[in-house]
Amino acid sequence: MTSKPSASDKLRAACAALPARQQPEWPDAAEVERVSDELRALPPLVVATECDQLRDRLAAAAGGEAFLLQGGDCAETFASVTAEQVRAKVEVLLQMAVVLTYGASVPVVKLGRIAGQYAKPRSNGTETVGGVALPSYRGDAVNSAEPEEAARRPDPRRMLRAYNAAAQTLNLVRAYATGGFAGLHRVHAWNADFVGSSPMFQRYEDMAADIDRALAFMRACGVDLEAGPVGSVELFASHEALLLAYETALVREERGRLYDLSGHLVWVGERTRQLDGAHVELASRIANPVAVKLGPTTTPEDALALAERLDPDGDPGRLSMVVRTGAARVRDVLPPIVEKVEAAGHRVVWVCDPMHGNTFESANGFKTRRFDDVVEEVTGFFEVHRTLGTVPGGVHVELTGDDVTECLGGSHAIGDEHLPFRYETACDPRLNASQSLELAFLVAEMLQRR
Ligand code: PEP
Ligand code: MN
Repeated sequence: MTSKPSASDKLRAACAALPARQQPEWPDAAEVERVSDELRALPPLVVATECDQLRDRLAAAAGGEAFLLQGGDCAETFASVTAEQVRAKVEVLLQMAVVLTYGASVPVVKLGRIAGQYAKPRSNGTETVGGVALPSYRGDAVNSAEPEEAARRPDPRRMLRAYNAAAQTLNLVRAYATGGFAGLHRVHAWNADFVGSSPMFQRYEDMAADIDRALAFMRACGVDLEAGPVGSVELFASHEALLLAYETALVREERGRLYDLSGHLVWVGERTRQLDGAHVELASRIANPVAVKLGPTTTPEDALALAERLDPDGDPGRLSMVVRTGAARVRDVLPPIVEKVEAAGHRVVWVCDPMHGNTFESANGFKTRRFDDVVEEVTGFFEVHRTLGTVPGGVHVELTGDDVTECLGGSHAIGDEHLPFRYETACDPRLNASQSLELAFLVAEMLQRR
């Protein structure tokens, strides 16, 4: 007996009928179908009411009453699903958030690039490792980074491992967010893993001491600090909705609407934002808050067309536009985009991704970014919004809680020669904990002046 297609069946069919870039060449289509069936039978990773909550928070960010901090790995790996690594990422996000909240007196919406960031778009289908051309690594949900032909073959069963890795990660994230770990009385403890010599360590300690004094004052006044917003945080999860077989299998109908319950927010990347493509179709049909990345070649017309597709009702918080032009272009490219989209009545969250437009190869062959370029792009972003009288709504950064050496500069003055020490990313170079904190202090100053 064949039953009537459900709303999520129809969504899957609609996406399957459209061109989709950046999909793996799965060797066995039947196996992809079997995996999709298995995923569809599994419980969702998040629930719809949480997505609605995030949408409300993002509406506040669109209006300037909150600020979005979105950050995490470029590519999560299955191997990095450990208590230590997840905790370190949560810690650095909490530290950055408290710096922003304290420095600028604005609520911070905390959104990890976490628990789902297992698939990557690639500029080239092949990459050369040690002189050998191999199929590109496309994220742990697709193939293995190991430089072997066989390891690089896309394996659909990896999507099930991605689901499990996301579930394990979310379990920890939720525990850290609400189980006492994230309480403001622990503001010092999040700094404990920090390299003691870091200038950022001391700056943070000074701020934490001020917060302690404020908390002691409130406690003395009879405020119960363990309860309510001071004792726990809201921490949401996001990733790029790239792998259509995975994402569409996690679309569920709730209260008459479709949600992609693989994460709270999903975004469409710079390489897959074609108006007539499957990724935009998927994002247009789900009720989650969604985002789209806009690179330096985006025209104001492109941006408006995306806003009309993804935010047809002009709902604040529904759509975030994550602009990543590079430090050199932001002051030219961003203004006409913002003007066009705002004039049409869309209250989007304007987000600055100061990472992806500033990537280059160091003299010694590492894909890297300069901390100064990152800061410069955020500075330009704030300047543009100040000039236009519009709202700089958030930042989107690639970071890790670990003490890696992947991006140049910062208070430790990482140079080319330091890159080989701890270059651990599975894809793009990330800010380390110290650079992330330094960026947060600088953004807090910009926020105060916005
Ligand atoms: C990313 O966020 O890792 C990414 C690939 O970004 P973009 O789509 O902006 O290139
Ligand atoms: Mn990246």
